[in-house]
Amino acid sequence: MKSLTHWINGERVDGQSTRTAPVFNPAIGEQIAEVRLASAADVDSAVKAAQAALPEWSALPPLRRARFMFRYNELLLANIDELAELISVEHGKTIEDAKGDVTRGREVVEFACGIPHLLRGDFTEDVGTGVDAFSVRQAVGVCAGITPFNFPAMIPLWMFPLAITCGNTFILKPSERDPSCPLRLVELAKEAGIPDGVVNMVNGDKEAVDAILTHPDISAVSFVGSTPVASYIYSTAASTGKRVQALGGAKNHMVVMPDADMDQAADALIGAGYGSAGQRCMAVSVAVAVGDQTADSLVENLVPRIQELKIGPGGDPDIEMGPVVTEQAYDRIKGLIDKGVEEGAELVLDGRDFTMQGYENGYFLGGSLFDRVTEDMEIYKQEIFGPVLSVVRAPDYETAVDLVNRNEYGNGTAIFTKDGDAARDFTDRVQIGMVGVNVPIPVPVAYHSFGGWKRSLFGDTHMHGMEGVRFYTRLKAITSRWPKSGVREGHSLTMPTMQ
Ligand code: NAD
Repeated sequence: MKSLTHWINGERVDGQSTRTAPVFNPAIGEQIAEVRLASAADVDSAVKAAQAALPEWSALPPLRRARFMFRYNELLLANIDELAELISVEHGKTIEDAKGDVTRGREVVEFACGIPHLLRGDFTEDVGTGVDAFSVRQAVGVCAGITPFNFPAMIPLWMFPLAITCGNTFILKPSERDPSCPLRLVELAKEAGIPDGVVNMVNGDKEAVDAILTHPDISAVSFVGSTPVASYIYSTAASTGKRVQALGGAKNHMVVMPDADMDQAADALIGAGYGSAGQRCMAVSVAVAVGDQTADSLVENLVPRIQELKIGPGGDPDIEMGPVVTEQAYDRIKGLIDKGVEEGAELVLDGRDFTMQGYENGYFLGGSLFDRVTEDMEIYKQEIFGPVLSVVRAPDYETAVDLVNRNEYGNGTAIFTKDGDAARDFTDRVQIGMVGVNVPIPVPVAYHSFGGWKRSLFGDTHMHGMEGVRFYTRLKAITSRWPKSGVREGHSLTMPTMQ
């Protein structure tokens, strides 16, 4: 059976800890690999490698660091089939979707290629007579990234390419559910010529994460995952003086106005609700239909589309939706559907009993659709993270906006309408970090920044784009004066001001 190790100082290492976890293929429900789980000593080895590589790496001119990214980008493209296969086998998503996972990550690598420009500082001549002021952004040191299972390529690539081109060295701790793709990503960094120790990876669970959060030589931690863990990461790492960005879970609403094109809205909801079996942090899990007629028409349009979803193993090129990631996820989602029925929501389509010949042990669910969901129900309150869409009926636009704004999460939202006035009002007033107008999954492109509000993000810096550059650098302001030697001006004890 495949054994997945750590990656420290440019090579695969087993580490000192002998603890392991199983990695499953969710389409067949069988263990296909085991992954090493790092101890604090293993994390410390990775930190030591990252620290040793830091002085030389951070002293390289940004253009030289950028050149590694150009090569890395080419390697990601050349190896995209292999990376997509690794993702699909362990995560369950389709090969095409897995390629999208890699490609959205590559876009951040392309952004990082522009680091010489992005790190350009500010300069002001003569802030006082003969005094100049300039600001530069410098690396923060050894950084760490802790990532979730649902985007095993994109989310690691949100982090380390930008962190290292900013002059830092890095330790990645990917999800223990699908670590093969991240391991290949860091190997490819070596193939791109990035020096050993600049990018390291430890596999592990809470023990490894805690060692990262409390390690005195790690300066910054990026995290993406569920809200309870994000909140813990933020408070623990911040209490040890680290810079932290911790992105959490989501409950994304799409408001459908009465004037929306119902075909377009339904198509958008199918992709956003059931793509990747609903396991995207930007998945739409709640459709808020404004008015009963809108709701009736929306449900009518959704039903045949959900019934026609092609479900199967991710490796089959004809399928659109794969299994969910683990048996635990399968049981949790099924349990929440049971709860929705118990609580009185109308289960229009029931995906619980979906089975596939030849894949009876796989973690497959069909698409489920609930109508008449209300705010007090568990299926509304919890992030289901599965192929389950809830329709909430709102009597008017104001009620819909209030509902979105009351929600504890603030990751993404969308409005579908033909009315520019409503769309503008929505984008202005909605308390959410990423907003789509007739765009159901408004994931910002790499040169803008990704992040939610409220309990979807702890810390204040979003991922990638200029926010990413700011997170991985510290600002230094320098004031300089070169007085003529031999000219004495005397001393002064008053606060220096402009006279
Ligand atoms: P998770 O929170 O279970 O795990 C994320 C990471 O934290 C993993 O590396 C895991 O090993 C580690 N971890 C898990 N439990 C821990 C604990 N108790 N202490 C310390 N570390 C722990 O998340 P997941 O199930 O892998 O991913 C799905 C979640 O991630 C969903 O909630 C989804 O919304 C969220 N997510 C958010 C975004 C975003 O950008 N906001 C993006 C993708 C996923």
